[in-house]
Amino acid sequence: MQVLNTIADFKQYRRGVSGSVGVVLTMGALHAGHLELVKTARAENQTVITTIFVNPLQFSANEDFAAYPRRIEPDLQLFRDAGVDAVFLPKPEEIYPEDFSTYIHVEEVSLGLEGERRPGHFRGVATVVAKLFHLTQPTRSYFGQKDAQQVVVLRQMVRDLAFPLEVIPLPTFRETDGLAMSSRNQYLTPEERLAAPIIWQAIKAAASVYEAGERDPNILRASAAEVIHTEPLAQLDYVAINDPKTLRGILEPTDQPMLLSMTVKLGKTYLLDNSLLPFHLNNRENLTQFLGSPSF
Ligand code: AMP
Repeated sequence: MQVLNTIADFKQYRRGVSGSVGVVLTMGALHAGHLELVKTARAENQTVITTIFVNPLQFSANEDFAAYPRRIEPDLQLFRDAGVDAVFLPKPEEIYPEDFSTYIHVEEVSLGLEGERRPGHFRGVATVVAKLFHLTQPTRSYFGQKDAQQVVVLRQMVRDLAFPLEVIPLPTFRETDGLAMSSRNQYLTPEERLAAPIIWQAIKAAASVYEAGERDPNILRASAAEVIHTEPLAQLDYVAINDPKTLRGILEPTDQPMLLSMTVKLGKTYLLDNSLLPFHLNNRENLTQFLGSPSF
């Protein structure tokens, strides 16, 4: 496995690669969810490239950029064991030199949900992903459903600017108690970690209310919120129901698929999770249809 730290070295490596390329972009502190994306990329492409880059541009001033977990050596070993061909591991100044001044702002789908909670976040995500796409030149790029809005924002960017690649969302990988795997889970105290599966229970509660025939978004949201409120350590930041294709809020009952998403604060840590409704749509095929981009 090659580990490349500079744009110049990476470009030279990339020039020597032909055939299909699967790319998984990460901020490191790897867990089994990241490795699921890599496994799929490995199965479907001749070459697999990953990146580890904690992107300062997607953290706002009051967020955890400095404290974000960094574990380079174990991460590289996990990538090596997963059969990755090359890792691009740049320093912030490599990606953002002093005179850097071009930003990508995807409108509309960036505004609500996490975009509202974290102003500027998706501008940071879209800008770095555009740059990493240009460098890595994926045939297919794999993303996690956990960050559903991110997938929708990137799909929009890829369509609008005709990036010649596929954005493929894969289902959220979970701990056995249902908690969505996340690098931020390690911020949780033991008590908070025990409380955290309440988010999954809230999603399941709303999904079973949907299954019983309920289509009123307000009732579905309330059924999830009610479950979160039973956990004293958990503070519901928002629970929302949106059209998965446009991310517009759904205000009236409908039989169209819905994206139920929520962010819950446990201590100082914000955890997010989501599900398509009906629940059986949470598989690659339907996720690609609703959140991903068609093949180029
Ligand atoms: P991050 O390192 O948090 O930026 O995540 C890198 C990629 O892994 C993103 O596409 C995430 O959506 C994805 N990812 C993170 N957690 C999970 C998970 N639990 N299951 C599947 N994919 C995930």
